Amino acid sequence: MKLNIKNSELFGNHTFNREVMKEKLPEEAYNSLKKTIEKGESLDIRIANVVAHAMKEWALEKGATHYCHWFQPMTGTTAEKHDAFLSFIKDGITIERFSGEQLIQSEPDASSFPSGGMRTTFEARGYTAWDPTSPAFLIEGPHSYTLCIPTIFLTYNGEALDEKTPLLRSSEALNKAAVKMLNLLGRENIYKVITHVGAEQEYFLVDKNYLDQRLDLLITGRSLVGAQPPKGQQLEDHYFGSIPSRVLDFMQEVEHELYLLGIPAKTRHNEVAPHQYEIAPIHEEVNIAADHNLLIMETMRNVALRKNLALLLHEKPFAGINGSGKHNNWSMVDSEGKNLLEPGDNPSSNLQFLIFLVATVKAVYQYGDLLRAAISNAGNDHRLGANEAPPAIISVFLGDQLTRVMDTIEQGIAFDEFEKQFLNVGLSRLPVISKDNTDRNRTSPFAFTGNKFEFRAVPSSMPISFPNAVLNTAVAASLDEMADFLSQRVKESIKLNDAIMIMLKKEITEAKMIRFEGDNYSQDWVNEAEKRGLPNLSHTPMALKSLISKKNMNLMNQYKILSKTEVEARYSIRLEQYIKQIEIESKTLLRMVKTQILPSAISYQGEIAYSLNQVSALQSSDDTLVQSCTKQMDYLSSLSINIKLLILTSDELESKINHIHTQENEERSAFYCAEELMPHMLKVRDICDLLENTLSLDKWPFPTYLDLLFRL
Ligand code: ADP
Ligand code: MG
Repeated sequence: MKLNIKNSELFGNHTFNREVMKEKLPEEAYNSLKKTIEKGESLDIRIANVVAHAMKEWALEKGATHYCHWFQPMTGTTAEKHDAFLSFIKDGITIERFSGEQLIQSEPDASSFPSGGMRTTFEARGYTAWDPTSPAFLIEGPHSYTLCIPTIFLTYNGEALDEKTPLLRSSEALNKAAVKMLNLLGRENIYKVITHVGAEQEYFLVDKNYLDQRLDLLITGRSLVGAQPPKGQQLEDHYFGSIPSRVLDFMQEVEHELYLLGIPAKTRHNEVAPHQYEIAPIHEEVNIAADHNLLIMETMRNVALRKNLALLLHEKPFAGINGSGKHNNWSMVDSEGKNLLEPGDNPSSNLQFLIFLVATVKAVYQYGDLLRAAISNAGNDHRLGANEAPPAIISVFLGDQLTRVMDTIEQGIAFDEFEKQFLNVGLSRLPVISKDNTDRNRTSPFAFTGNKFEFRAVPSSMPISFPNAVLNTAVAASLDEMADFLSQRVKESIKLNDAIMIMLKKEITEAKMIRFEGDNYSQDWVNEAEKRGLPNLSHTPMALKSLISKKNMNLMNQYKILSKTEVEARYSIRLEQYIKQIEIESKTLLRMVKTQILPSAISYQGEIAYSLNQVSALQSSDDTLVQSCTKQMDYLSSLSINIKLLILTSDELESKINHIHTQENEERSAFYCAEELMPHMLKVRDICDLLENTLSLDKWPFPTYLDLLFRL
């Protein structure tokens, strides 16, 4: 495929974006829709009808036959149910139809999606509602297109059944709090603050022919057994290396499709592990960034299949080799388009910068455990704390220069003095803090990188909505607390700038514990964090408990992100997903052991025994032969010992699997999976890996790490 068309000409061709709206809609309708998008004003059904008509005409022109409400149930992926535009009028007459009502709302019979008990199948159905802030787009099928309308997914009573609703609610919470703060600081013309997110997506590609022969990768997305290859990533020759042509072919086709969808894919490169790659789009408003991240994952999956490749988005597809994450770059932007985390070049704009910076640090300090819960899944448990990914302990890295600024303020400094010392504390040079300066600590889970925070612990396979919803909400709460403090001091006739200095000192001192500049991978940090009282939530069930703690529940309720019922539902869904995943993994492992590995090993054992028998039958008095027989006997018995061990441990595995659901409750089942089953799976794996290194290659029943990681 050589395309002669410029990417700038394709960009967004498959989206019903602002440009198309402006062209296709009457002015009045366009202006109303714009207001709805920008200010969240509700849309009159009359206007919705006009928009629906224009959308339909545009989609038909492009070759669409169907439309769907595209939504994000709590399964971690997206869902769609297609309806034809074709309407059947009497006497066989047909017409393409799409009304405002169909655009705004739909009631898919989506009763099988997780609801955490908020809705039972016989009760009211869930419904989807149009989210006009994210543009509708076309998805290509083999013969025609489908118009996808981004929607939220709710119960009949308006409870969130999806990933997107809490994100939208959190954006509104942050917007309110940030605008209030800016107005208080004298920027009264600011009417809106949004968050921008750029999610760097890591992934693996392997040859599908190999993958199809591995039950574990096929079913669970990760290898449950696999001996280390002689060469892994130790030579670091893959990172930023030249991209293999088969992969480049994949990337170029992916990018082509993403550009059509208006997704600003910008960077592509090899990652550290063999066959690991990354794609990064330019940052966009968080809601769009979240949709786009899901579309990137979906597009990659589809293109990979067409190229006979398999895409692995799992956090840890291969033990002993780096896993994948999603660096979530996050910043706040005001209605003048200014990044609030961009240091300014004079004292007052730097004060504003420091307020928003400190508010974020405070948010992580107060709600680090909730952020940890938001990024927990079974896959991430293999990564966090594994010396390649951030640890399970959440902390914030600010860099030398900002640390000095924090220290100066903490020591107590009045605004006049601060203004004077402006040069001394290095603030004047803040605008030129280069990323190189601040980005050095790659071990931090939450690092300030020049003009944004980079949340590095987000799992590669999960939607980014919930982690961002938590972050937005926590920052909103910090800003509100800080604004209340300021207003109070100003009421007490303290000058605003002085009040700000007092407040910054207070917040910097209080949240000091969450700041860490050192090596997050070291054991010293684990010990130090414990002394500081920072939680080290090492597995998913442990981390998830933070969802339902009183403090975190209050935050979610107070900001109307999730009600008590909604939080409890989410907790139960996430626990259930975790248990299911571990159950599937352990059953897959058991099946591989019993039906593939053991039969192969036993058959190989038979071959050696037979050969040994033949050789010893010679009854030679030749010493060498006798010694060789003895050695072969040793070899055979060590093989037999491992086979015996594998039979025993896999039998134990089976009985442990049978106990998953006999625990007291769901929470206990999840802890049982993490603390009993997972370690036992590793025991089984160790023996399998020993056997893999012993058996003749042609006897090993499926492709090895060598095939998967070095043959593309
Ligand atoms: P790296 O982290 O690999 O050094 P960059 O820092 O250039 O790479 O950017 C990585 C991601 O951060 C990209 O998706 C980019 O769009 C995003 N990004 C850059 N600036 C901002 C910002 N102000 N707010 C949010 N995301 C940003
Ligand atoms: Mg990065």
